[in-house]
Amino acid sequence: MSQIKFYNREPVPVEMHKVKIVQKLSLLPAKERLEKMKNAGFNTFMLHNGDIFMDMLTDSGVNAMSDNMQAAMLHADDAYAGSETFYRMNDKLTEIFGIKHLLPTHQGRACEHIIAQHFVKPGSCVIMNYHFTTSKAHVTRLGGRVEELVKDEGLVVKSDLPFKGNIDLDKVKACIAKEGADNIAYMRLEAGTNLIGGQPISYENMKAATELAKEYGIVTVLDASLLQDNLYFNKTREEGLKDKSIREIARMIADLFDIVYFSARKFGFGRGGGIMVRDEEMFHAMEDYITMFEGFLTYGGMSVKEMEALIVGFEETMDLDIISQGPQFINHCVKELDKLGVPMVTPGGGLGAHIDARQVVDHIPAEQYPAGSLVAALYLCGGIRGMERGTLSEERNPDGTEHIASVEMVRLAFPRRVFTLSQTEYVIDRVKWLYDHRHLIGGLRFVHEPKTLRFFTGRLEPVSDWPEKLIAEYIKDFGEDQ
Ligand SMILES: *Cc1c(COP(=O)(O)O)cnc(C)c1O
Repeated sequence: MSQIKFYNREPVPVEMHKVKIVQKLSLLPAKERLEKMKNAGFNTFMLHNGDIFMDMLTDSGVNAMSDNMQAAMLHADDAYAGSETFYRMNDKLTEIFGIKHLLPTHQGRACEHIIAQHFVKPGSCVIMNYHFTTSKAHVTRLGGRVEELVKDEGLVVKSDLPFKGNIDLDKVKACIAKEGADNIAYMRLEAGTNLIGGQPISYENMKAATELAKEYGIVTVLDASLLQDNLYFNKTREEGLKDKSIREIARMIADLFDIVYFSARKFGFGRGGGIMVRDEEMFHAMEDYITMFEGFLTYGGMSVKEMEALIVGFEETMDLDIISQGPQFINHCVKELDKLGVPMVTPGGGLGAHIDARQVVDHIPAEQYPAGSLVAALYLCGGIRGMERGTLSEERNPDGTEHIASVEMVRLAFPRRVFTLSQTEYVIDRVKWLYDHRHLIGGLRFVHEPKTLRFFTGRLEPVSDWPEKLIAEYIKDFGEDQ
């Protein structure tokens, strides 16, 4: 079912599950949050989870399991080699994707490590619709290069296009002509995209792109980490697919690729990862990397309990009721904030709601990290933890100058089946308050700046006493205790 209809009021998304286990949350008083933020060096990655009210940092490894997933853990078969759990997991994935061979890994980036290790040589090129941080890092680490060939319209913030993750076929043709097919290690399509706002890619586009690759003998790879959201959008936004079941669409997509890999921290509501390989020879050639880097071939670094839960989680991913929750909550949040005048990435995609920080705090210079400042302010004003996706997440240019990001966003991730609609309404309210007081937000500067992946562990300080002034204003409206 796509959306429950209402008789007498504007419809809102309705959860197709009920809560059976809960975790207590606390909302620290505003002034205490200011202390915690100072201790965390104004970096939301450095906050302790207990000091956070709404943790919207990521959807990775924090999705809610179902009763059936937890029950399945009890019959996990603990064995170093030959665990029955592994064969059950392999069978389930083969049933869904129609691909025979599974290489288990501990998480998504481990799949990327192994695929890159196997195919990338110094100087080789990998075609992508859009990169993800870790998928690019593994290619460049080996001396390869990533060509991001998303359609230009994918980077337009405000839009009503249904599939902003689509790859530009003309750019693909030009790239193949320029590089030569032999120099292209593989074509990796991400369904849906992560860094451009959870925007999906259409089945038609994947079909055309992979057909083109096959013409030139280029290996095709699907990053299915965010496939559950993408499947929802294929079903609800793609004309030719509305009568197909989620299971049928998943199979049609997988049929286009030689390799399908995923982070099970997102796909399957658990923790782990896997690479499905169609060709037997290719599969055997990649096995050694698993035993060397991950674990034995029948667990690959995963706990067998998680693997049992995932088997159920993969099956739940084929259920439209279940996979609707994330995109519908995100859509609600994006639509409401858009109505309130807050600059959002539209249309709502998967993964989370994305605020266009460049527009919100246009008085903060790019070198003072607009999105980093906004995300810090959002914790101060509501105990909400989002993630900076902008210049702070980039590395400096070789000459030490800032590399200004093409998009400057704050991401509010919606871990699946975790938050309620009233909590979502709270977030909408606080974002709107902050938007109306945006002139009070100031910039940040580094006091400790790591050379690589600085956004994870870097420490910053405000360029003025703006956090104190912002908190004082907040307390005027909401009181000391909130
Ligand atoms: C999260 C993610 C990954 C990496 O997965 P991890 O389990 O975090 O290592 C790869 N690709 C995409 C699209 C992702 O969203």
